[in-house]
Amino acid sequence: MTKVSIGLRGWRFEEEEVFDDSGAFRPLTEMPPDTRDRISRLMVMVDKPCDACWLIHGEEEKQRCRSAAVVYGEPLREVVLCGSHEADFLYWFREAGGRDLAGKRTFRNAFHQWFADGGRAPDGYAGIEHVESDPDSVPDPLPEEELPSVEDELASLSEEEQESLDIDLDDLDV
Ligand SMILES: [Zn+2]
Repeated sequence: MTKVSIGLRGWRFEEEEVFDDSGAFRPLTEMPPDTRDRISRLMVMVDKPCDACWLIHGEEEKQRCRSAAVVYGEPLREVVLCGSHEADFLYWFREAGGRDLAGKRTFRNAFHQWFADGGRAPDGYAGIEHVESDPDSVPDPLPEEELPSVEDELASLSEEEQESLDIDLDDLDV
C-alpha cells in the first residue's frame, strides 16, 4: 500500500483507494467514506489562501495571501498553510497545546486565535518535512531525522478520534 498526498501536503491517502489501475481518479462513490470526505474537502481547500496569511491580510487583501501548500486537521476543521507559516502551525501543535485539540471541533479556531493573538514559532523553528519544496521560506531547518513525522501522528490520532466523534459531513458540497 502506497500513501500519497494529493493537491496539498499533509493528508495522505492509500493510492489504490483513490486511483484505479490506469491512474485515473476513482468515482467518489467508490471510495471509503473517510477518503471520500477528505478528497471532497481537498477539492475545495486546494485553492484557498493560507489561513495564517488570511489572518494577517484579511478578506479585502486576499490577493496578498500565499496559497495553501499543506493541510492539517480533520475535514471541516482543517488548517491550511503556506510553506512559510507551516512552522508556526507545527510550533502551536507541538508546544502550545494544539496536539490536545487534534480531532476536536475547536482545532482550527484555536489555532486562528493563537495566531491572531501574535502566536508565532521562534526564529529558526522548523522541523518541517519536505523543506526542499520551499527552501527560501524556511531558514536553517533542523535536520529532519531529529523530528517525528507530524503527518503520521495526525493521521493516527485522527483514526482514534473518529471512533468517538460524530463528524457531520452532510454539509460538504460534493
Ligand atoms: Zn501563510
